[in-house]
Amino acid sequence: MYPANASRSHAVLSVAAHRRDAELSAGVTSPSAETPSDPTEYFGCNVFDDKAMRRYLPKDVYKSLRTTIDLGHRLDPAVADVVANAMKSWAMERGADHYTHVFYPLTGLTAEKHDSFLDPDGKGGALAQFSGSALVQGEADGSSFPSGGLRSTFEARGYTAWDVTSPAYLMESPAGMVLCIPTVFLSWTGIALDKKTPVLRSNQALNQQAARVLRLFGVEPSMPISSNGGLEQEYFLVDGSFVSARPDLLIAGRALFGAHPPKGQEFEDQYYGVIPSRVLAFMADVERQLYRLGVPVKTRHNEVAPSQYEIAPTFESGNLACDHNQLIMTVLRKTARRHGMSCLLHEKPFDCINGSGKHLNYSIGSKEVGNLFAPGDNPHENAQFLVFLCAVIRGLHRHAGFLRAVVSSASNDRRLGANEAPPAIISLFLGDQLTDILEQFRAGQVTKSARKRLMNVGVDTLPPLPADPGDRNRTSPFAFVGNRFEFRALGSSMSAADALVALNAMMAESLDFAATFLEDELGSGKSSLGEAVRKLIETVMEEDGAVIFNGNGYSEIWQKEAERRGLPNYPATPDAVQVYKQQEVVGLCEKYCIFSRQELKARHDIQLEQYLKTVHTECSLAIRMARTQIYPAAIRYRQEMASSISACSALGIPAGMESLKELSSQIQGFEASLKALEDLSLSVCWSPDEDNIEKSARGCLDHVIPAMEQLRQWADGLESMVADDLWPLPSYQEILFMK
Ligand code: ADP
Ligand code: MG
Repeated sequence: MYPANASRSHAVLSVAAHRRDAELSAGVTSPSAETPSDPTEYFGCNVFDDKAMRRYLPKDVYKSLRTTIDLGHRLDPAVADVVANAMKSWAMERGADHYTHVFYPLTGLTAEKHDSFLDPDGKGGALAQFSGSALVQGEADGSSFPSGGLRSTFEARGYTAWDVTSPAYLMESPAGMVLCIPTVFLSWTGIALDKKTPVLRSNQALNQQAARVLRLFGVEPSMPISSNGGLEQEYFLVDGSFVSARPDLLIAGRALFGAHPPKGQEFEDQYYGVIPSRVLAFMADVERQLYRLGVPVKTRHNEVAPSQYEIAPTFESGNLACDHNQLIMTVLRKTARRHGMSCLLHEKPFDCINGSGKHLNYSIGSKEVGNLFAPGDNPHENAQFLVFLCAVIRGLHRHAGFLRAVVSSASNDRRLGANEAPPAIISLFLGDQLTDILEQFRAGQVTKSARKRLMNVGVDTLPPLPADPGDRNRTSPFAFVGNRFEFRALGSSMSAADALVALNAMMAESLDFAATFLEDELGSGKSSLGEAVRKLIETVMEEDGAVIFNGNGYSEIWQKEAERRGLPNYPATPDAVQVYKQQEVVGLCEKYCIFSRQELKARHDIQLEQYLKTVHTECSLAIRMARTQIYPAAIRYRQEMASSISACSALGIPAGMESLKELSSQIQGFEASLKALEDLSLSVCWSPDEDNIEKSARGCLDHVIPAMEQLRQWADGLESMVADDLWPLPSYQEILFMK
C-alpha cells in the first residue's frame, strides 16, 4: 500500500540530503561566482550610485542630478535623456537587457513589469534604447492592483514616476540582469495608489515644520530635514520540503494546525545562540547579494523562537530604508528557495512560539543639523532636543489610533498583545530619568540635582539630561532608545512605509504646534527661549503626558490603567481601521497633504479587503486539510484500533476499549467543529464590495476565526493520539528542529 504519509517521509529524507549538500558546498550558490571576498570591493556594485553617476554623466548633468537628489528639487527634463542614456550604458555593460519600474502597490508587496531595451530599427535589426521619458515615467495597467475604489477598471491606467532619491539598481538572477528603477505609482488624476508616494509627501511636511522649529534656535537649514529608518527584520527559515508537504505553510504562510512540540522556546537556548551552518550559508549568501545592491546589512542573529532569525541593516533615510526593506524581503525569499529552504515572513507562522515583527528605529535630521532626537552637548542643544521630544509625546498621544491602524492586518493581529509582542495599546517608553525631568517641568519646579551619569548642563531653567537612555523595555510598542525611537508593533511581512508615514505625519503636526507656540511666546516678548521651551514642556506634559508608560506593557494592570487614561485599544484590524475615518486623522492627513480623505478611505477598504481575503483563504484551507488529511488519518487509526480490540477480545484478552472511546469522542468533537466551520464559511459573504466589507470583516473576527481556533484544538488533540506513521502533516518538532 502507498504509505499515508509519503510526502512527509519524503520531506524528512530530503532535509537530510540538503543539509549534506549545503555543508559540502559551504553554501556558495550566489549567482555571481566571481564575487571578491572583500565586501568593500563590491559593496554597491549593482547600484547606479554617486560613483557610477560621476563616471557616466557629463559634469553639468551630474551636478544638476545631484542637486535634485540632495535638495529635493524637480528633475530638469533636459537632464533626463542624458541620465537615461548613461544608466542604460552602465546597465548593459553589466549584462542587463531589460528595465523595470519597481513600485509598491497597496498590497504591501513589490511590483515590477519588465521591458526590453531593444526596439526594432525598421530594417530587420534592433537598437538598444532607453529615453529620458521611459526613465522618468512609465505606464502601468493598474486594474489588477487593489485601489479601494479609487480607480474603476474603465480608467485603469496608472503611471509610475521615478523617485530620484532612491537609486536605480541591477537585480541579478541566473536568468540575467534587470535594471530596476524605484518609482511612485499614481492614477492619472494624481491619486496615490502606492506606499511610496505618501512617504515622499510626509517627508516634505516634516521638513517644513522641523525647519520652522530649528529657525527659532537660530539654525537655517539649507538641506531638507528628513526621517531616518533602521529596520530590524525577523523571519523564520525552515526546510522547503516541509512547506511543500503542508498546504497551510505553502498557501497561508502559517501552520493552521499543529500540536505543541514537547520542547518549544522555553529553554531560551535559541536567542543569540550559535547559528546552524546551513542557516549561516544562507545568511552569507543573502548578505553578499544585498551588499552588491548597496543595502548596508549589519546584524544577523538567532531570535527567540526555534528556527527564527533576524537581519538588520544600518539606518538610512526613511524612504530608502523602506525600499531596502522590500529588497531584503525579496532577497530572503528568493535565496531561501535556492538553498532548499523557505523563508516565512508571516507574523505568526507557529502558535505557541513567538511570532515575527519588524522594528522601525526612527529619527529625524539631516547631515547638516545632525540627529534631532539626540540629546546635545550644551543647554542650547538640549532645549532643542526637548522640543522635538515634546513633539513625539504630543503626536503619539493624539494619533495613537492612527499608528495602531497602520500596523494592523489579519496576520499581525495574531502577534500584537499576545505577550510576546507589544500590546495593541500604543504608549511611549521614555525611561525613568527623562520622564522624571519632564514631570518636574510639569510641576513647575526643577530643583532636583544631577544624578549619576547625567550631563551637567548647568545654566538656565534646563535640567541635566541623561547621557544614556538607561533601562531597556521590551514590552513597549514605542520606546526611546537614546537617540531614536523604536516602533516595535510593525508586522514582519508588512511594508514599513505606512508606519513611517504615520510617524512623519504626527511629527509634522506636533512640530507645527510647537513652532507656533514658541513663536507666540517669543514674538510677544513674554518669554526668553528657555522660558518658552519650559512652558511648552509644561503644556505638553499636562495635555499629552498620559501616553508615557514605563512599566510592563504585558501586564493586565496596564490594560486597565490605559483605559483609565483614555488611550485607545484596538485588539483587531476591523476595529483599528475605523480610525482612518476619524476626523482627527482625516484632518491631519489633509492639512499636511499626505492623504486626501478619499485616499484614506481607500486604505481603510484595502486593509479590510486584505483581512477578508486572508481569513477566507485560511478558512477554506483549514476545511480542506481537515476533511482530506486529518479526518482520514483519524478514522483509519480508529479502524486499526477497533480491529485490534476485536481481535484481542476474540482471544479473550481485554484491550484498549478506553483508548478507543477517547479517540472516538475526540473524532466526534472534531467532526462537529468541522461541520460548524463549513456552515459558517457558507454564511459569511466573502465578496469585498463596499457595502458589506465591514460587516463581513466583523463576521470573520467574531465567528470565523474563533471557529477555526476551535477546529484546531480538536485537530491538535488528534495529532497527539493518532499513530505517528498515519499522521499526514510534518510536525512542529520536525519543521522547527530539523535543519
Ligand atoms: P536592537 O536589536 O538592540 O534594537 P539592532 O542593532 O538590531 O538593535 O538595530 C538597531 C537599528 O537601529 C539599526 O538598524 C541601526 O542602524 C538603527 N539606528 C541606529 N541609530 C539610529 C538613528 N539615529 N535613527 C534611526 N535608526 C537608527
Ligand atoms: Mg535587534
